[in-house]
Amino acid sequence: MTVKTLQDLLDEGVDGRHVLVRSDFNVPLNDAGEITDPGRITASLPTLQALVEGGAKVIVMAHLGRPKGEVNARYSLAPVAEALSEALGQYVALAGDVVGEDAHERANGLTEGDVLLLENVRFDARETSKDEAERGEFADQLVELAADNGAFVSDGFGVVHRAQASVYDVAKRLPAYAGKLVEKEISVLEKTAVNPESPYVVILGGSKVSDKLGVIEALAGKADKIIIGGGMCYTFLAAQGYNTQKSLLQEEMIDTCRDLLERFGDKIVLPVDLVAAAEFSADSEHKVVALDGIPEGWLSPDIGPDSVEKFAEVIATSKTVFWNGPMGVFEMAPFSQGTKGVAQAIIDATADNGSFSVVGGGDSAASVRVLGLKEDGFSHISTGGGASLEFLEGKELPGVSVLDR
Ligand code: ADP
Ligand code: MG
Repeated sequence: MTVKTLQDLLDEGVDGRHVLVRSDFNVPLNDAGEITDPGRITASLPTLQALVEGGAKVIVMAHLGRPKGEVNARYSLAPVAEALSEALGQYVALAGDVVGEDAHERANGLTEGDVLLLENVRFDARETSKDEAERGEFADQLVELAADNGAFVSDGFGVVHRAQASVYDVAKRLPAYAGKLVEKEISVLEKTAVNPESPYVVILGGSKVSDKLGVIEALAGKADKIIIGGGMCYTFLAAQGYNTQKSLLQEEMIDTCRDLLERFGDKIVLPVDLVAAAEFSADSEHKVVALDGIPEGWLSPDIGPDSVEKFAEVIATSKTVFWNGPMGVFEMAPFSQGTKGVAQAIIDATADNGSFSVVGGGDSAASVRVLGLKEDGFSHISTGGGASLEFLEGKELPGVSVLDR
């Protein structure tokens, strides 16, 4: 691939030019609308700072959550604009709309080194439209904001696996460059995708079960062990005949899981015990149980301590480890032990065994910070979940291939 990078753009000169940047600011918010983990904002700073220093008029495009094409104050980027202003050390204005009058006025009014954040691009249904013409029309309007001689920098690694207007169609319409974050993510992930040193251990958890079953199939050839915990594991346990009660379960995937177990059973490592809770709440009654011991009507929000130990033994032997998806509902303190234990085992393998460790996934990365673990204990914490998984699966990332020309 021959992708131009931010450095190429800086060499060409950005002074006084409008530069549209796609960043990933899809940060977790609590019920009060406060940012609970600013990791993705922090990761976007190097690119934005370099453009500011180069004298660009920076216009940032980003999304937050799934407002489904409608303006919804709950998904406003206002808290992001505030956090970004603070992190950058300069005022970042938030446009009142995406491609409307306010965005235009503010874009026109930018001076060298200013940063403008557009409102959530997913307030416009055309952003994620399957219809290329619809997306194109929206992309044209975004590109108009960049006036003559504009440029596009793709820096939202978490969205490069999506062919969306602000990621893909805008890149087709302007001179386009990979930002520092995208460049760094790709080069690190290539190390795990192309020639991972074995033993290569993949750990999968989280809640997007059907999204991730394909990964198992794709990685089974390369990985030596695939550890499965979190919301992922109950469909496998059900396939083995266990009654998972009210635990997260994707019934229509049980057969697929059974098939995966038959084909890759020697590689797949499942929990040996679980935490069971009477209800899905932090103060629920709970206890450690055997796989067949979830009380009737209860659910399992975490793996048990013996599972953590078993997983840790496998992780300790690794030379390459990729982790996507929390082992339990880590957001609730009583159910964070599985995630914490597995994360710590990865940190230990990195330090003691020289294992090359990569964490991918918004919630997984957030869990590392929220649980107070050492961020620099991992070789790399990716800002993209779906994007890093798809990259490791060997799928084409439309937001990256569109930069190739
Ligand atoms: P990532 O963002 O790292 O790719 P996902 O988005 O797939 O991960 O999943 C993260 C979510 O999975 C977390 O919010 C966590 O609470 C949830 N989760 C993990 N284990 C369970 C479980 N046993 N039951 C329900 N939800 C779970
Ligand atoms: Mg997630």
